[in-house]
Amino acid sequence: MAKKQNSFSLNFDTDWNYSPAPESTSHVEIKEKYDLFIGGKFVKPKSGKYFDTINPATEKSLAKVAEANEKDVDSAVKSARKAFKPWSELPASERAKYIFRIARLIQERAREFAVIESLDGGKPIKESRDIDIPLAAAHFFYYAGWADKLEYAFPNRKIKPLGVAGQIIPWNFPLLMAAWKIAPALACGNTVVLKPAETTSLTALKLAELIADSDLPEGVVNIVTGAGKTGAAIVNHPDIDKIAFTGSTEVGKIIQRAIAGTNKKATLELGGKAANIIFEDAPIDQAVEGVINGIFFNQGHVCCAGSRLFIQESIKDEVEKKLKMRLETLRIGDPLDKNTDIGAINSKGQLETIEAYLEIGKQEGLTSFQPSYSLPKKGYYCKPTLFFDVSQSSRLSKEEIFGPVLAIQTFRTVDEVIEKANNTPYGLSAGVWTDKGSKAFNLSSQLKAGVVWANTFNKFDPASPFGGFKESGFGREGGMHGLEAYLSIK
Ligand code: NAP
Ligand code: MG
Repeated sequence: MAKKQNSFSLNFDTDWNYSPAPESTSHVEIKEKYDLFIGGKFVKPKSGKYFDTINPATEKSLAKVAEANEKDVDSAVKSARKAFKPWSELPASERAKYIFRIARLIQERAREFAVIESLDGGKPIKESRDIDIPLAAAHFFYYAGWADKLEYAFPNRKIKPLGVAGQIIPWNFPLLMAAWKIAPALACGNTVVLKPAETTSLTALKLAELIADSDLPEGVVNIVTGAGKTGAAIVNHPDIDKIAFTGSTEVGKIIQRAIAGTNKKATLELGGKAANIIFEDAPIDQAVEGVINGIFFNQGHVCCAGSRLFIQESIKDEVEKKLKMRLETLRIGDPLDKNTDIGAINSKGQLETIEAYLEIGKQEGLTSFQPSYSLPKKGYYCKPTLFFDVSQSSRLSKEEIFGPVLAIQTFRTVDEVIEKANNTPYGLSAGVWTDKGSKAFNLSSQLKAGVVWANTFNKFDPASPFGGFKESGFGREGGMHGLEAYLSIK
């Protein structure tokens, strides 16, 4: 009997505009059940266990996903180990062709990936369609280009791949984070065991299908699904050479402790609490748009989100008034509606975390603003929220909320704002809005953050390295620096 398929029908035209019409021309198939991708094949989990992946906009299950236990992780590592020698000895130009082919296949199936990403994770389709999926393909293209030029990246050095990389990713940019991890690892000749986050496994599994279609030698990429325990099994496996982790600072610390004293190399991309700074000489309307994008893009589920806003005192009233007006015009709702600006919160658990922070703001006696429209009745939704005159000691300015919540402070002088902006355990990103180039350069050198954007925010490019200072982690992903994370360099 043919397997039952959940089918989501959408009508696309060539400009990506679509409406959910019954006479639709393009189908997005989601299987009822997904197994583990090990050794180039889908295999049943040894535990026999599966868990539901939920559509956060409807609260309904989309599919069942296999839960990998230690034995499954062990077979994935064994398959990656077996594939390592032949893969690393393949002429680099051949490796490049495979990576290039994966990039092309992502482009060909971009619509399907975008729809599944929005269904499984709640993000607005215009973001999955225009940002996540194209950037994922761009990462594969970019690192395909490096594969046979590594000796030019590191002249006069002896370079070798590290071996088997265990890669663990979060739920906020599921396919994109998989691309950030897999593409440079393969370009450098490593093999991979990747674990997506429990709430957003579907695009990684779709990528597994695509990888099988690409004829990549079996075992070079293995994808095992599951929750934290599966991640821990990868971290603790003795035959893993490298851990690449993106996620919370809390789990990052657990991983560091777990691998201390072993030969495992690690890169950790952790949390953030970015300062977004507006000076009185900035183009105000442009800055307001940048602040809105900085904190409400992807419902604020962004490690580099501009979650602390610093406004120069002389323009406080104007900026706050414009922010409130802009919030009233944001469209919140169905992630699959191409007009949606703010989609669903990724999971029930994350919604509860955000709501707890809204309560903390209330208890601290802070003034806040939320738009007047109401939220959809079903699904995990949260109104975009502003908190005003937040102190440096407030939990809202200290802790990462990972939701659509902006903590606003003011400042008078450049020195004051640098001190306030750097007063955080994190150091991932920052933004500066000013008409003066000298001010932008001064701040970009003084802010302790891996990325500083000037008169823009949340701009990503595969050629540009990304990563944090302090408790935001170490190591860089993207650009030439992203290669170092997967090579031993003598
Ligand atoms: P998380 O709870 O740390 O989870 C990240 C990944 O680690 C998930 O796949 C998770 O599995 C797994 N995991 C959980 N416990 C583990 C353990 N003990 N050992 C090994 N793996 C374990 O983070 P999240 O809530 O998914 O993501 C949000 C965080 O990621 C935020 O703090 C955000 O700032 C950070 N982030 C950072 C960057 C960056 O580039 N710096 C980018 C994106 C996100 P399950 O989820 O399946 O349990
Ligand atoms: Mg889901």
